[in-house]
Amino acid sequence: MLSLFGENEITQNESGFSFADIILPVPIPRMFTYKIPRNLSSEIQIGARVIVQFGRKKILTGIIGKVHNKAPQAYEAKPILEVLDERPSVNPLQIRFWAWMADYYCCHIGEVMHAALPSGLRLSSESKIQSNPDFERENAAYPLDEREEKILDALENQKELTYEDCEKILGIKTVTPILKSLVAKEAILIFEKVQEKYTPKIETRIRLREDLAQDKKALEVIFEQLSGKEKQESILLKYLRDVPVFQKPELNEKGLDKATILEEGDSESSLKTLIKNGIFESFKVTVNRLQEVEPERVPAQLSPSQLEAVSQIKSHFEEKQTVLLHGITGSGKTEIYIQLIQEVLESGSQVLLLLPEIALTTQIVSRLQEVFGSSMGVYHSKYSDNERVEVWNGVLSGRFSFVVGVRSSIFLPFDSLGLIIVDEEHEASYKQFDPAPRFQARDAAIMLSYFHQAKTLLGSATPSFESFYNASQGKYGYVELKYRFGEAELPDYFLADLGADRRKNLLKLDSTRLLREKIQEALDKNEQVLIFQNRRGYSPYVQCEDCGWTAECVQCDVSLTYHQFTEELRCHYCGYKEKVPTSCPACGSTQLSTKGMGTERIEESLSLLFPEARLGRMDLDTTRNKYGYQRILDEFGSGQIDILVGTQMITKGLDFGRVTVVGIWDGDRILNFPDFRAGERAFQQITQVAGRAGRRAEKGKVIIQTRNPDQDIFAKVIAGDYGSFFQQEMVERRKFFYPPYVKLVKITTRHADFKTAEKAAIALHREMAQVGVKKIVLGPEKAIIGRIKNQYQFESLIKLDRSGATQTTFKEKLAEITEELQSRPEFRSVRWIVDVDPS
Ligand code: ADP
Ligand code: ZN
Ligand code: ZN
Repeated sequence: MLSLFGENEITQNESGFSFADIILPVPIPRMFTYKIPRNLSSEIQIGARVIVQFGRKKILTGIIGKVHNKAPQAYEAKPILEVLDERPSVNPLQIRFWAWMADYYCCHIGEVMHAALPSGLRLSSESKIQSNPDFERENAAYPLDEREEKILDALENQKELTYEDCEKILGIKTVTPILKSLVAKEAILIFEKVQEKYTPKIETRIRLREDLAQDKKALEVIFEQLSGKEKQESILLKYLRDVPVFQKPELNEKGLDKATILEEGDSESSLKTLIKNGIFESFKVTVNRLQEVEPERVPAQLSPSQLEAVSQIKSHFEEKQTVLLHGITGSGKTEIYIQLIQEVLESGSQVLLLLPEIALTTQIVSRLQEVFGSSMGVYHSKYSDNERVEVWNGVLSGRFSFVVGVRSSIFLPFDSLGLIIVDEEHEASYKQFDPAPRFQARDAAIMLSYFHQAKTLLGSATPSFESFYNASQGKYGYVELKYRFGEAELPDYFLADLGADRRKNLLKLDSTRLLREKIQEALDKNEQVLIFQNRRGYSPYVQCEDCGWTAECVQCDVSLTYHQFTEELRCHYCGYKEKVPTSCPACGSTQLSTKGMGTERIEESLSLLFPEARLGRMDLDTTRNKYGYQRILDEFGSGQIDILVGTQMITKGLDFGRVTVVGIWDGDRILNFPDFRAGERAFQQITQVAGRAGRRAEKGKVIIQTRNPDQDIFAKVIAGDYGSFFQQEMVERRKFFYPPYVKLVKITTRHADFKTAEKAAIALHREMAQVGVKKIVLGPEKAIIGRIKNQYQFESLIKLDRSGATQTTFKEKLAEITEELQSRPEFRSVRWIVDVDPS
């Protein structure tokens, strides 16, 4: 295990140390020792980025984790090549946090570093070619072929070429053999180009020449000279209107960009003349990529129950590190957050607000921005590398003491957090599945808070059972908000019994009448409708009516989904796609039919049933580009869409006053979650999507379509009876040993060969069974999806006693076991994926 604390933790330059342990973004379970060259010793600081050589060819960016005087025994330490940071990009608290994460989630600190540091802060190295100056084409010792000639022609125009350039020039995929041959014939040289990935954004600005801006007389002279040159005069006048140079010289220093100076009708050439004649001057500045927003409002006046909640939260915080705010949908949690955030910021500490992935582009961010303006940083997964670096640096420099972000924002370089808020803390998307570190951001946030001696507030209308359990045990403080803000009430529920009918087009059946009626009523009153179906595409199966063949992925054991818009069959697990066959590949029949309803098909059917209504759809397919999600929401918000069909994307956080009807297309599908969390997930999902209805004066209606209307869970959701549902599920979990009563570790064994995968899984299983801690080992079993991307997978599930000692012992042993197995020749290419607290 890594020990980064104690001994010789230093943060300042301290001469005298000869070695540094560097964290490198590679999946190897340790740091790497490098020599500190004397000339760099004054620049060495914990957390600074350095460049080192790794292996024979690689140049990597690493982070200094530790300094010491112990020379490595097994190898000769190479020198650190360069120190990139004057001020460390990473602070010691973060390194501690990384080490904790690597230990807890059974991965390597380099993998955590890889996830944590925006890739813009890493160097990239790329192979390039240039011509060999000693080479003479006319007198070449070996003849060059046509392709090789082409490359040399290109090098005459351009000094350096990347491999990609060469691919383009030749129009082929692999150029390596050709380039190697050129090297052998001594015609070119290959070299590694290392460059910083982050590039600041540079803008050209224009301003009044400095001395004119200080001298009224001189400016008057200029105007005299310009008389008769109306175009130039008007540009100058306009500039002086925007930039009163004598009153506000600082504005002239910043200048304006060309587009702002030129009004419609102004000619660019007049502006150029003004610059040429030295009246204006153009200069370059580094600008911020992040949006500048001014605050627009003061925080809302809190209602008495919100005020009461704030004071309860604060009093719990006096004793407890974590508080769970259980407030029903629409109860006004966001305004409570705003109040607390302001207080913490005023006390001089930093705040992080975590939001689930998709909620981030939306309303809540704009609501927060209205209050905090651009003093608030936003860290989003759709940001570019460059933008992420700017947020990172903004936290380092103190520009952002408050950030709202997705799960990876727990890695930002905070040094004095006072509060972390995890909104919608029950959200499954807080868990990272792939790649390592497979962390749960809510849990990691609590740990991060602990390192900062800060507080954590978990907010949800439907808390995760883990959090609610911790609250009920007194480990977390618990605060409840039982009513919606203002006049709004919770919606009415209707269960629409689909009966046993399994015919094709549900929309034509009598059983969906209720939903259709409610949609019609809403449309008549000019209200809006949300339809939830967690399945994208047109239909999830294509089947031959004659022989029963179904279209399946060639690389995975799953059926292919039909996408009508692109006329394709697609695998939702690996991305494989193919054109829809015109006849059955098995029997040749042309009777192929589509089964089941995805969002695309529901949208189509609804548009036929309600030809007047304007339909919209929100799923992965319609939101791929950066603004796709926002655009659909804007259209919905401004009333250009009447009915919005969508996947779980529409269930989260949306606050639209005119939504009165929410339809849950397939309530049974929600219940079919394949693990012990099925009940919990279903309760959360139905409650959350229902919570989008009737958030203002008009009462909402929620229609759940199901073939089993008698199921107990529906009654519990309708009654809003979270507490008794929780109690009931806990009985099951205790009886069958599931969290929160045990800790789960899931291990997936993967290999391209079925037999090898199976054998390796069994071998692992045997070894794990030997580990002497209190535990239950289940499996190995073929995973629910037995094969993904041509890799067969087997799973083992380990249930550990909750004590910390058990977990530590088991994880240490597990690392030894997998290392030993990996060393056996037969298992060399097997992959073991360890997932701690899987969900
Ligand atoms: P939640 O996050 O708990 O679902 P929201 O914070 O979205 O609830 O609040 C629901 C609605 O009530 C929002 O439209 C919000 O603007 C409004 N609201 C909440 N608190 C206040 C307040 N104190 N003053 C005015 N409007 C409020
Ligand atoms: Zn067939
Ligand atoms: Zn596939």
